[in-house]
Amino acid sequence: MSEARRPLISGNWKMNHNHFEAIQTIQKLAYALNAEDYDHVDVSVHPPYTDLRSVQTVIQADDIPVALGAQNCHWEASGAFTGEVSTSMLAKLDVTYVIVGHSERRELFGETDSEVNRKANAVLAAGMTPIVCMGETLEERQAGAAESKVAGQVQGSLAGIAPEVVAELVLAYEPIWAIGTGETATPADAQQMCGHIRSLVADGWGAAAADGVRIQYGGSVKPGNAPELMGQPDIDGALVGGAALVADDFARIVNFRLYQA
Ligand code: PEP
Repeated sequence: MSEARRPLISGNWKMNHNHFEAIQTIQKLAYALNAEDYDHVDVSVHPPYTDLRSVQTVIQADDIPVALGAQNCHWEASGAFTGEVSTSMLAKLDVTYVIVGHSERRELFGETDSEVNRKANAVLAAGMTPIVCMGETLEERQAGAAESKVAGQVQGSLAGIAPEVVAELVLAYEPIWAIGTGETATPADAQQMCGHIRSLVADGWGAAAADGVRIQYGGSVKPGNAPELMGQPDIDGALVGGAALVADDFARIVNFRLYQA
């Protein structure tokens, strides 16, 4: 892994934890990690919107070196969009990373690549970093269409973004069949697709963008499989769902280096 690409371990709490539980979880995580555990890794947590202010307050009051993240946003700055949250609202809460195009948003709420692209641009315009998600279904993988599906998502979601900006982005390869199922892509399969994504970035945005962009793997990452997954040359971190809800498990994933062979 290039030294320039610091791994980013992100915990996506999805629709779990009310704001009291969120406060407990971030406090437990802070307790489970030592200052030096952050030396070679960036860490973010992505609570539900209703928890953001509470988690922000704990992070700042206790000086915890964990970045605050959101799970979604709207691309418009303001207006009549009932139920939506703008990027400026997130930036005001000191949010650093915003997940866009998570497969649950794409599959359950019909988000398209062009909407993901608008969201990514809105996140960037507000001074934050998007974590742009992509991945194939089991049917697409079995039909040999995984690479073409992911290629379309890379091209559509990042369309029009300048190469020097792409270099600073975070992409997350999350095979849909591995999310929340206990099924993990093998380290070799995950590496193969993350390498494919990096070559797509090289083709579309140039070598410097491909070298800089961080590519996370997501899909049933656990303390036991994180060390080998994170050891792959094109995997620069993890987007973690279920295991991120348990502070001790997430802390062990953050500390994957200690468990590598
Ligand atoms: C996710 O939420 O992005 C995810 C990968 O979930 P899990 O780790 O539970 O599979």
